[in-house]
Amino acid sequence: MQLQFFVRSPTHQTLTVTLEPTQSLTLRHLKSSLLPNPRSVSSFYFSLNGKPLSDSTLLPNPQITQLSTLFLLPRICGGGGDGGATGAESRDCYLKMYADKKPDKIDPNEKRLGKWLNCALSYEPLREPCVIDKLGNIFNKESLVEALLGKKLPKEFRHIRGLKDMINIKLSMIPGKESEAADGATFQCPITGLEFNGKYKFFALRNCGHVFSAKALKEVKSSACLVCHKEFVESDKMVVNGSEEEVAALRERMEGEKVKAGKEKKKRGIDVVDGKDCGKLEGNEKLENGKKSSNGGVKKFRAMDVAPANATKEVYASIFTSSRKSDFKETYMCRSLPLGRN
Ligand SMILES: [Zn+2]
Repeated sequence: MQLQFFVRSPTHQTLTVTLEPTQSLTLRHLKSSLLPNPRSVSSFYFSLNGKPLSDSTLLPNPQITQLSTLFLLPRICGGGGDGGATGAESRDCYLKMYADKKPDKIDPNEKRLGKWLNCALSYEPLREPCVIDKLGNIFNKESLVEALLGKKLPKEFRHIRGLKDMINIKLSMIPGKESEAADGATFQCPITGLEFNGKYKFFALRNCGHVFSAKALKEVKSSACLVCHKEFVESDKMVVNGSEEEVAALRERMEGEKVKAGKEKKKRGIDVVDGKDCGKLEGNEKLENGKKSSNGGVKKFRAMDVAPANATKEVYASIFTSSRKSDFKETYMCRSLPLGRN
């Protein structure tokens, strides 16, 4: 008896397949006879009553009864096999899915507070002894000195070269706030009791190191420190953790002081050369003195000038490498430097 069944193609056409009783073939054969492009055979599969059939299923088959309908369906390729991916997603969407969440923008409030409660360098909670630099940054002295000695100061603090660039400050502890772990401010203004927490402006006095709120200095008009009574002038007041403009002003002042100090040093240096050493620049002592004070603006030492009597000056001078401008040139192929120079 002939076996007759239907095949529903992917394009929703229904084909009738008739199989002679003597005929026997696999679904793979059937598939390739139905599809115009043999290469696409693996892209389709047969399904019966919603269940996929293996390509090697042999016809006739007890499963495929008279007048049943097989569906020829395209395989959906790609994806992760978990049903979640269809392969149609763009790469972008995976990148988004697995991308690390960007850290939240730093709350400027928190950043500001951090500067008042923690060392500007180590970010550890402030604990005495503390120092400020000439820009009003506040540090734990221990951390700063350690970094300075280890030459580990970050670029922003390179203006601190030594102890002379730090000002020891004396902070007033809030009573009962001895423990480091406590949240919030540890220090306060000794006069007004305002907390050292970033909400109020504070000044450190350069000469004695005591730290006051701006309010205290404003209310108590005094030219002496409110704690130790040491006299101070307006320029001794250093704003702590100041605004951008205040820091810029401090920086300007710091640079100014540096230039001034440099000039004074230079002046002293020149005095020494003029007064003492240069008087002896005569005869054979020239060599010695020339060496000693070559930085002080003294005439450069020339071997020719001190050649022994009866010596040919040029020959004597040729002993010294610097007497003659070198003809040797370095090329891209070799380093031909005169003896003693390479
Ligand atoms: Zn003081």
